Amino acid sequence: MTTLRGNWNYPTSVRFGPGRIAELPDACQTLGIKRPLLVTDPGLAALPMISNALESCRSAGLDCVVFSDVKANPIEANVTRGVTTYRAGGHDGVIAFGGGSALDAGKAIALMVGQTRPMWDFEDREDWYTRVNVAGIAPTIGVPTTSGTGSEVGRAAVITDVRDHTKKIIFHPRMQPQLVIADPELTLGLPPHVTAAVGMDALSHNLEAFCAPFFHPLADGIAVEGMRLIREWLPIAVKNGASIEARAHMMAASAMGATAFQKGLGAMHSLSHPCSANLNTHHGLTNGVVMPYVLAWNRSALEGKLSRLAAYLGLRPSFDAVLDWIIELRAQIGIPNTLADLGVQPEHAARFSRQAFEDPSTGGNPVPMSADGFAALYRNCIEGRLDPARG
Ligand SMILES: [Zn+2]
Repeated sequence: MTTLRGNWNYPTSVRFGPGRIAELPDACQTLGIKRPLLVTDPGLAALPMISNALESCRSAGLDCVVFSDVKANPIEANVTRGVTTYRAGGHDGVIAFGGGSALDAGKAIALMVGQTRPMWDFEDREDWYTRVNVAGIAPTIGVPTTSGTGSEVGRAAVITDVRDHTKKIIFHPRMQPQLVIADPELTLGLPPHVTAAVGMDALSHNLEAFCAPFFHPLADGIAVEGMRLIREWLPIAVKNGASIEARAHMMAASAMGATAFQKGLGAMHSLSHPCSANLNTHHGLTNGVVMPYVLAWNRSALEGKLSRLAAYLGLRPSFDAVLDWIIELRAQIGIPNTLADLGVQPEHAARFSRQAFEDPSTGGNPVPMSADGFAALYRNCIEGRLDPARG
């Protein structure tokens, strides 16, 4: 077994390897944080993982406090309360510790503690990020506990706007944590169905980034290796959660997906966001469900690209080989086949298709999309129809 440890300096400073959570106090000291606010979710807050982290910070003389009022799909009120807690406690940095929701909430809190404008002014549109008071952003350490979102190396936070039930992307390049502790031991306790769902999120990030029609060879290179790791290790991580090797490779693939998707995402994420914002479906699971239908939809733009990908993955070099692999993988790890299985009904399609069309991920889809196109694509995902049919 190769060593699963490394110190990486892109896309940010990453301390990767089993057991490295012990370096959390040192990481705080590296960033000059003395009074960290540790942002996590209520489920994790009850686990020894968080009490141990708290204890190690406190024994190192750091005045660390836990904030865990974070929903599974975080909302603005979670961020607002976090900002209030941060200011009231005189904190000087954030430890964003958890899955995508806790990481995103922590990053949004770190952004908002230094701003006077409302958070929605920093949505990922045009050049809105230039409105941010950069000096006010709190130093942040990212600690992922799932392998899917990759948010620990991402530059945005997805927050649900409860006024119109849409997921909005809050973006600033400096929202990327300055330091990441990626310790795969933190994911050993993830149950198989969660491992599978978040793993499909990592796959969707690598795949959509690779398929996005922009010139970005760096992202493409990272994405294909991310997908190779997922092909080899996701089934093992689901089947044998105690395999630290599988857990480590999935944690790397997750960070690779989020690094690659600086290039762009696509219709998988556009379709998925309205489902989660309205029906609270799991983000990664939803991406996993819609994945083959979106690929089939985009076939005309992807034949050559997916043949190259297939060759790298050790598959017969063709579009269909990649599509077949994804369908097999989904069945193998227990991802449902249709959006109907997640409670999405035909009557949702009209409303969701408008939201999907307006989603910022839409611009990265290899085939230009319309609201009507999304309505048709939702129907495919609900009815389980691969359309256009395979070649
Ligand atoms: Zn995602």
